[in-house]
Amino acid sequence: MKIQEADAKSLLLAQGLPVPPWKVARTLAEVEAAARIFFDGGAERVVVKAQVLVGGRGKAGGVKLAGSPVEAAEVGSKILGMDIKGITVRKVLVGAAAEIVKEYYLGAIIDRASRRIVLMASSEGGVEIEEVARQNPGAIHRVSADPELGLLAFQARALGLAIGLRDPLLNPFVAIAEGLYEAMKANDADLVEVNPLAIVAETAADGATTHRLVCLDAKLTLDDSGLARHPELEALRDLDEEDPTDAQARRLGINFIHLDGTIGCMVNGAGLAMTTMDLVKHYGGEPANFLDVGGGARRETVRGAMELILADPKVNAILVNIFGGITRGDEVAAGLIEARARQSREVPMVVRIVGTNAAEAARLLTEARFETATSLDQAAEKAVALAKGAAR
Ligand code: GDP
Ligand code: MN
Repeated sequence: MKIQEADAKSLLLAQGLPVPPWKVARTLAEVEAAARIFFDGGAERVVVKAQVLVGGRGKAGGVKLAGSPVEAAEVGSKILGMDIKGITVRKVLVGAAAEIVKEYYLGAIIDRASRRIVLMASSEGGVEIEEVARQNPGAIHRVSADPELGLLAFQARALGLAIGLRDPLLNPFVAIAEGLYEAMKANDADLVEVNPLAIVAETAADGATTHRLVCLDAKLTLDDSGLARHPELEALRDLDEEDPTDAQARRLGINFIHLDGTIGCMVNGAGLAMTTMDLVKHYGGEPANFLDVGGGARRETVRGAMELILADPKVNAILVNIFGGITRGDEVAAGLIEARARQSREVPMVVRIVGTNAAEAARLLTEARFETATSLDQAAEKAVALAKGAAR
């Protein structure tokens, strides 16, 4: 689950990272009021940043500076409502603008190969790290944390030295790297990025300028499978930006992953769903989705799952493959019959139900004139033929 910059900053702040204060605004009046607070606090300029769950907001015109509350509202009017990579901006972050001296990149990911959290840093900050990886891979430095020992101070120091940081900024960098690692673990995140991590110049009342490292941007992705351990993080889900299909699948408690093909698949069990997709491919078809309705699916779930499959206009055939165990075949059959009675468009379907109450399921399906199959091979082959027939 992706979360907004402002929420990611809250989680970093909770680990003691240096994040400058901010406010979130949804209207121009709120932008102006927020900006006024920062100007009253001594800011010379404020920054207004689009809060959308995509990167490259700066390039897209979603990050702007302003010299007065009124000007903040003006740039706010350009950013609120703008479209960034297909997403409408509904809220912005407002904060005192930093005077940037240099931008770095600092991030943490889970490296599946080594099964460790890897910290990455680069002196080429502010640009997308994928770009640095392409153009100048040598500029990205990495250390990997031992899961038992955690990120050790010498590793963080080596990373800081590698990107050119020296005393007096090296120790603050070590603290930031350690905090980033803690934020990753504390929230079961699978990615945390601070880009830019910036050296900023701060001028005190007496005119003395000091340099400090601060997190000017934050990106954090939570591991969906870890969310159950952090019910409070569920509140950070941005429903404005969630794909309606994903939201519906979550409400139904099913696993649904949208794919590019034409054959909608409804299966119980993740392994069987994979096998079903393999067979669809084997017979020359392309699955439109991965869908595991789970164990003991009730007819409401089956009906909802069918709606999800049919919501994809590319779907021109459906393959249902249910292996009844806890799941009762007759319950699934009843759900399919209900779903078809309500569905908005007619799509050919092949149903294979075996296991618990298969005979009763077969009777219901035959009565309702469903096309059925007994073996999975036969079902997949038929579904592919139906999809090809429909495409013609
Ligand atoms: P992204 O483009 O979505 O990654 O958004 P960022 O928050 O990283 O902002 C993009 C760029 O805007 C940064 O790399 C900075 O160069 C600039 N920027 C962001 N915040 C400030 C700020 O407070 N002051 C100044 N001068 N520039 C900023
Ligand atoms: Mn950024």
